Amino acid sequence: MIRLYDSVHGVVRDLPMREPGRLSIYSCGPTVYSLPHLGHGRQTLVWDVVRRWSTFRGLDVHFVSNITDIDDKIIARALDQGTSTSDVVARYESEWWEAMTALGAAMPDDIPHATDWVPQMISLIESFVEDGVAYQTSDGVYFDVSRVTDYGLLAGQPLDSLRAGARVEANDEKRSPLDFVLWKNAKPGEPSWPAPFGEGRPGWHTECVVMSLGLLGDGFDLHVGGLDLKFPHHENERAQAVAANRPFAQHWGHHGWVMVDQMKMSSSLGNFTSLTDLLGRTDPRAYRLLVLRSHYRSPIEVTTETIADAERALARLDTLARRFELPSLAGATLEVGSNYRWEGEALDLYDRVATNLDDDLNTPPAVAQLFEAVGLANTLADRGATSEAQSFAEAVNVLFASMGLALHASDDALDPLSADLVARRDAARSAKDWVGADKLRDELVEHGWVVEDSAAGTFIRRP
Ligand SMILES: [Zn+2]
Repeated sequence: MIRLYDSVHGVVRDLPMREPGRLSIYSCGPTVYSLPHLGHGRQTLVWDVVRRWSTFRGLDVHFVSNITDIDDKIIARALDQGTSTSDVVARYESEWWEAMTALGAAMPDDIPHATDWVPQMISLIESFVEDGVAYQTSDGVYFDVSRVTDYGLLAGQPLDSLRAGARVEANDEKRSPLDFVLWKNAKPGEPSWPAPFGEGRPGWHTECVVMSLGLLGDGFDLHVGGLDLKFPHHENERAQAVAANRPFAQHWGHHGWVMVDQMKMSSSLGNFTSLTDLLGRTDPRAYRLLVLRSHYRSPIEVTTETIADAERALARLDTLARRFELPSLAGATLEVGSNYRWEGEALDLYDRVATNLDDDLNTPPAVAQLFEAVGLANTLADRGATSEAQSFAEAVNVLFASMGLALHASDDALDPLSADLVARRDAARSAKDWVGADKLRDELVEHGWVVEDSAAGTFIRRP
C-alpha cells in the first residue's frame, strides 16, 4: 500500500481511494505568462514520480493538471509586449509543454483550460451570492471566509489568528482582508465574460475548485501542489467546496521549495532562472535525478554544481546500460511491476526499493539502493557471473524507469517526438487498440527506430 504525508492532518497515511484500485489526482498547473521556472519543474517531476510509481504498483491513475489562461499577469504581459492575451497564452503554453516533454513527464490525462470552464464558474459564484456566502463590491465579487467554520484548516491556524496577521488592503469594501475575489470586473479592453454580476473574469481560486470537481468529481483522492500554494490558494479552493456542500480532496500533498543561492525560488521574487534555460544547457534527466535524491518534502538546491553532480551520476547509469545493452525505457509508462520477472536478487532489490517508495515516496534511500546495485552488477560481471549480473542490471533499469528515469545505452538521446510516439503507442496497446499501435510503430520505424515489444512496454533502439 502506498502511503503519503497528508499536509492537512500532518501524518503519513494510506493513500485514500474513492474507488479501490483507482487514484484521482489534481495538480495545480501554471499560469502561462512567462517561461516555466525551476519550481514548476520540481512540481511536475515530484508528482510525475508519484503517478508513475502508483501505476507501476498496479493502480489506475487519473491525473488532471490545468492551464490558467486568464489572469492579471497574462493581461499585464500582453500590455507589456504590445500583443494580445491569446498570443501570450499560446506562446507560454507551448514553452510549458516543450519543457515538460523535455523533463520526460507523462502528459496529464486531462488538461482543463480555465477559459473553457467559465460558465460553470459563473454558476458557482451565483449560488454563493444567492446564499449570502459571497458579496459584491465596486470591483467584483468576494467570498466571505467567515462563512466557512473551519477556514484556516490548511493554513494550520484558526481564522482569528489569520485575521490578526493579515495585511490591511487598500480595498476597504472588503469585509475582511482574508476575503478573496471570485469574480473581477473587467476594465475596458480586458478579456471578459458576461455574468449576472457584471462583465468580468473569474478569480484563480475559483478556477481550480471548479475544474478539479468538474473532472474528478466529489471527494476525489489527492490534491497536490507546492508549499506556496497551501495557503491561501488551496485553502480558498477548499473553502468554496465546503460552502457549496461538495466533498473535496480527501488528501493533500505539498512538495518543498526549490532554493537557488539559499533563496526561495519564485518568479515573483525576481531571482528567476527559467526551467527552459536549465533544460537547454543540461541533460534534462539530471534535474529528475536531483529531485529523486532528495525527499520531496525537503527543500532542494538547484545550482550548476548540484546539476553537474547529478550528470556525473547519470553517466554511471548510462555506462551500466551500455555494458549490459539495456533497452531504453524512455517514455514508457510501466504498468504493474509484476510484469517483469522478479526473482532472486532482483526481487529482493525490488522489495527494498518498493518499501521506501511506498513509504511517503522516500526516494533518497531507494536511489542509493539502486546505485549500490549498479556497483554489484558490475562486480558480478567482472567475476564472470554473467546471467546474475544481467538480471540485476535489468532490474535497475526497470526500477529507475518506474520513477521516470531512463538509462541510455546509446548516445541517441530520445527526441520529444519519439518519446511521445512511444507513450501513445503504450497507451494504444493497453487500450487494445492494435490498429492504432501498429500505425504508431510504423511512424517510429519511419523515424529510424527499431521497435521491440515487451511486457513492460515499447522499447526502441537505433538499428
Ligand atoms: Zn490550483
